[in-house]
Formats: sequence, C-alpha cells, structure tokens
Amino acid sequence: MSEQIEKLECLIIGSGPAGYTAAIYAARADLKPVMYTGLQPGGQLTTTTEVDNFPGYPEGIDGPTMMEQLKAQAERFDTDVRFGLATSVELSEEKGGWHKVIIDESKEIHARTIIISTGASAKYLGLESEQRLMGSGVSACAVCDGFFYKDQEVVLVGAGDSAAEEATYLAKLCTKVTMLVRKDHMRASKAMQHRVNNTANIEVLYNTETVEVLGDNVVEGVRAKNNKTGEEIDIPATGFFVAIGHTPNTQIFKGQLEMDDVGYLITDADSTGTQRPGVFASGDTQDKVYRQAITAAGTGCMAALEAERYLAELV
Ligand code: NDP
Repeated sequence: MSEQIEKLECLIIGSGPAGYTAAIYAARADLKPVMYTGLQPGGQLTTTTEVDNFPGYPEGIDGPTMMEQLKAQAERFDTDVRFGLATSVELSEEKGGWHKVIIDESKEIHARTIIISTGASAKYLGLESEQRLMGSGVSACAVCDGFFYKDQEVVLVGAGDSAAEEATYLAKLCTKVTMLVRKDHMRASKAMQHRVNNTANIEVLYNTETVEVLGDNVVEGVRAKNNKTGEEIDIPATGFFVAIGHTPNTQIFKGQLEMDDVGYLITDADSTGTQRPGVFASGDTQDKVYRQAITAAGTGCMAALEAERYLAELV
C-alpha cells in the first residue's frame, strides 16, 4: 500500500463552501491544512449556473467561478489543495490520537484533526431526459434556480418536506407549480401539506410518476403517468424540479461516527464536534434542513475554530 505516511495537524475532506471556509480559517490559524477535494472539486455548486443568494456578490456569480474564488482565497493562506478521494478512515477514540485516512486507496495520512465537508448529493430519478437537460431546465434546488422561472410554469417531483417547501417557494415566483406525488398521499408533515393545499397556484397530482422530461435543448414540458389508470399526460413547463431527497456523502464513516438513518452525521449541540475527538463535521454532511452554501460556509468556519481550540488544548 502506502509510500511514506504523512502526518498532518488538520486534514479537510471535501471542497464545497464548508471545506473552503474551514480551510481559510484553519490556514489563517496556522494549522497548515491539507484539503482533499474529492472527485467533484468545488462540490454541488459547480453544477449550478447563477448563484444570487451568497452575500458579497451584488450582481450574482456563477457557481464554478465562485468555487474557484473560494479555492484561491484558501490557497492565498497556503492551504495545500490536492485532488483525491478519501476512500477509508480509521478514527481514533483517544483525545490527541492520530486519525488514519487512506486517499485513493493508496496514500496513508495520519491527522490530528479532521474536518469532514464531503457534502451531499441530490437524488435524481435516473431518467435519460432528466440527465440530458440538467442545468437546462432540470434542477434539484428551487431556492438556487427558482428565480429563473419567474412568471413561468414548472413541475416539481417529490412528496416530502423539501418538496412541499420548494413547491410553496416556487409558487411565489411561478404562475403555476404542478407537483407530482407517486403515492396517494404526501410524506411531508401535515403543516407543510396544509400550506401546499392552501396555495392556489399549486396543483398536486397524486399517484403520478414522471415518464420523461420533454424538450431537445431546454425543458418544454413533462410527460407524467397515473400509476393507477395508466393514463399519460403532457404538462407544459419550462422548469423541472427534483426534490426527492439527498444522500450525504458519509459512507466511509459508517460504524465509526453516529449518523441518522439517511446518513447525516450527528454533531454535538451548537458544535460541529462528532463522537471522535478532533473530528468535526460541517456543511451538508450534518445539515439536512438548510443546505445552503452560506450555512455550509458557517459550519465550515465553526469546524476550523473548534479544530484550532482542540489542538491548542493538547499542548
Ligand atoms: P424525504 O426522504 O423525506 O422525502 C423524499 C420524498 O421523495 C418522498 O416523499 C418520496 O416518496 C419521494 N421520492 C423518492 N424517490 C422518488 C421517486 N423516484 N419518484 C418520485 N418520488 C420519489 O426527503 P426530504 O428531502 O423531503 O427531507 C429529508 C429530511 O429533511 C426529512 O426528515 C425532512 O423532514 C427534513 N426536512 C425538514 C424541513 C423543515 O423542517 N423545514 C425542510 C426540508 C426537509 P414516497 O413518500 O412515495 O417514498
């Protein structure tokens, strides 16, 4: 397996807003952080076009450029940013212990602190048309992209709290939101369902599944099928929003860190601390409610400050 084992004070795994913010703080605190970017450097925002809700960009900024800027800021303070994927971990239970991390199944790193910022991946239906029109009308984030569909008709698929929240968000911008629910009921809380049902321009179609997103280069509509009657309809729409849940990228920590049944890491109250000393979780790995770039950046900052305090206590 490994060449020489590398020993680090602070290892950051993942390169979204949480990871880069952690890097900026950790580097400025002289923790000499090394970041491994994962396979999608920059994270989920690199799949977004315009970001209009991150403070400091009055004209908005496109996702990939924003992530390049965060990287440049982290590197300005000498964060060592490397391309690579953490493939397994052995986390120490001892305060001050070394956590072992394997990168790309070959390189071995021992780190005194680890900041986990591996993010989450939105789930998609898996249709060819959905994949093809990604970023051209297909989106998994209403808060990020809803504005582009102002005064237009959109379709949203999903039936949980996120779907209900996103449908009501979109309804404020769009002329009509058609919500496709595959069962005869929604999973969302009663309060959220109540909001959906009391919004005049949301139409909920129950027992309805997506057959295909229509359009060659941009979304022009959605073909849906009633799974009880078999009847198919074409719904005109310029946007197709998928809100069927997220999968946090936390598989390598299974069995070592506490997580909920979906895989979100459980952190201490008002902290990013996990059950292992010196291991901190930030961003979408531990936040299933807000999931915004700015909230991820906030918890990245918390994680770096906590890592700094933890290391200071060891000396
Ligand atoms: P959930 O896992 O709760 O819901 C996913 C929904 O997507 C389900 O209704 C499911 O349908 C549907 N779905 C899954 N796969 C498909 C598919 N292939 N086709 C059609 N529909 C599909 O995810 P959420 O993101 O909504 O919520 C995650 C967690 O975050 C929950 O615990 C939620 O309560 C919480 N949350 C809380 C909020 C708040 O408090 N304000 C806001 C947002 C989320 P089915 O029901 O048929 O399985």
